[in-house]
Amino acid sequence: LLSLRDVRKTYPSGPGRRAGRKVVLDGIDLDVAEHSCVVLVGSSGSGKSTLLRVVDLLEEIDDGQVLLDGVDVADPWVDADAVRARLAMVFQQYNLFPHLTVLDNLTLAPRLVHRRARAEAVEAGHAMLDRVGLAHLAGSYPDQLSGGEQQRAAIARALVSGPELLLLDEVTSALDPELVGEVLDLLTSLRADGTTMLVATHEMGFAREVADEVVFLHDGRVHERGTPAQVLDDPQQERTREFLRRLR
Ligand code: ATP
Ligand code: MG
Repeated sequence: LLSLRDVRKTYPSGPGRRAGRKVVLDGIDLDVAEHSCVVLVGSSGSGKSTLLRVVDLLEEIDDGQVLLDGVDVADPWVDADAVRARLAMVFQQYNLFPHLTVLDNLTLAPRLVHRRARAEAVEAGHAMLDRVGLAHLAGSYPDQLSGGEQQRAAIARALVSGPELLLLDEVTSALDPELVGEVLDLLTSLRADGTTMLVATHEMGFAREVADEVVFLHDGRVHERGTPAQVLDDPQQERTREFLRRLR
């Protein structure tokens, strides 16, 4: 479904015209097959969020290809909105519109972007809230929900338009520890349903449970990749070992 080929991304390394460029993604190759789950791990600043933002076309790349079904969507001629309609991204926090009910949060994009009839969008919204266990909160406002419920609602909103690929960036990092489990359980069940996912996380337990492939990033490069057992239990690279040691 998705392939990154030798993707390079730099940012200005400081203010002023003389500043150089800081390499944030340094030749990334990555494949996400349909119905698979690829999990990005690595320390803070390794490039995980940047990589997800590149896929969602929120960032331009300096070089390489981002292929969706073989079509290079990094090409400036491509209709970015049409590409984004096939993807859905959920961030660490601030996902829901605070002035809209949970149900209206879910129906907004289907109605405005995808031009679906109100009744149809409402029906799809209710079905998706049921799917994530929040049917009883459809009429509530985001600030009346716990953090875990808000994040589950945000995931429901991402899914309601039927994206082909779900991008998740540290969706449990902002949660109180006792709320992390309910969100990870939801992701595990989505995975079991065959949802295609590209996930950045610090939750190694989750990576171990759901990933088809774990990709270890360091300084914008893939240093190690493989099954969870290969990367998390039997890492071959010293950098991976060091990263895993520091988590313990
Ligand atoms: P974390 O685990 O903390 O979320 P990350 O792996 O998601 O980290 P990124 O957010 O992708 O890392 O950042 C990678 C590098 O790019 C960092 O060094 C960061 O400072 C830099 N960076 C990110 N966004 C920008 C920006 N808009 N301008 C300049 N540098 C940036
Ligand atoms: Mg990040």
